[in-house]
Amino acid sequence: MKLFIPGPVNVDPEILKALSTPVIGHRTEEFHQLFATLQAKLQKLLFTENRIILPTSSATGLWEACILNCVEKSILHLVNGSFSSKWHEVSLACGRQADKLEAEWGKAVKPEMVEKALREKQYEAIAITHNETSTGVMNPLEEILEAAHRHGVMTFVDAVSSMAGVRIDVDRLGIDVCLASVQKAFGLPPGFAMASVSERAFEKSRKMRNKGYYFDFSALLKYMEKSETPSTPSIPHMFALDKQLDRMFAEGLENRFARHLEMAMLMRTWASEHFALFPEKGYESVTMTCIKNTKNISVSNLINELRKRGMVISNGYGPLMEKTFRIAHMADLQVKDIQELLGNMEDILKL
Ligand SMILES: *Cc1c(COP(=O)(O)O)cnc(C)c1O
Repeated sequence: MKLFIPGPVNVDPEILKALSTPVIGHRTEEFHQLFATLQAKLQKLLFTENRIILPTSSATGLWEACILNCVEKSILHLVNGSFSSKWHEVSLACGRQADKLEAEWGKAVKPEMVEKALREKQYEAIAITHNETSTGVMNPLEEILEAAHRHGVMTFVDAVSSMAGVRIDVDRLGIDVCLASVQKAFGLPPGFAMASVSERAFEKSRKMRNKGYYFDFSALLKYMEKSETPSTPSIPHMFALDKQLDRMFAEGLENRFARHLEMAMLMRTWASEHFALFPEKGYESVTMTCIKNTKNISVSNLINELRKRGMVISNGYGPLMEKTFRIAHMADLQVKDIQELLGNMEDILKL
């Protein structure tokens, strides 16, 4: 089955092979080397000198890590879809005072809205979902961060479905925590995540009380100084990630980002010709496309027919089911895979 769903994505045989590398102890010199290599390679991918934490969890765990370590009182969540909305729920579940700055689903959160909200009330931090996977909207990260910096708030960025598919200059943009899991644009099997963490975020965590145990930045930092993790990490994922990062640099980061954009442009042209794009113009995601079902087709039927041909796409997320459908073009997928998918969809839908 070829997966065109926005996570998990297909995993290349070379990566599957790296996953079955014989296990090593996590308190050994070999592990120290693996850990240090991953640090350097992820810093290169994210254009940052910040340290990268590698706790074993999915990205949801890192949502919680941001809140537990860095938010004492209040945080502003930018919400325009299911994922950003869930992150807000995490803050509430952690007992924090969390406000929502909402934009209609399908619309982007605009920097002017952020500027206004930050002027009206004081917050410690802001949570931004870069690519809202439920609606296919890519929020204007740079402009939103500029507004955030004018108010000195800490910045947390969920780059789960954009990191490794789109350029994110963590240091130039000034992101305190930039997080992602590996089953989206990284092209690894699910079960692992990473985040770059700024000195300011580590400093804030050091003073924080009641920050839980598993995701304590101070503990992660302490072990990181010896190239280790406090508990046993998913070592197979680390071997696979190392391999995948090598493959990314072999392709060239700029080429990789350009390939993602090329697939996105192809999808957008097709969607505009036969249906319409769900996201507001100018804010379409580069790693996935959310198509508005203007022809009122049965999306589940299309999904079933495609399955028979060995391809999987996604229905709309939550309330957008049947009203939209989503096609991911990330990780190791190539332009020819998208062309093949579109050809099959045209055939099935008799377009
Ligand atoms: C998939 C996704 C998540 C959830 O990630 P998990 O690794 O499943 O915890 C969070 N945010 C966005 C934008 C996503 O696309």
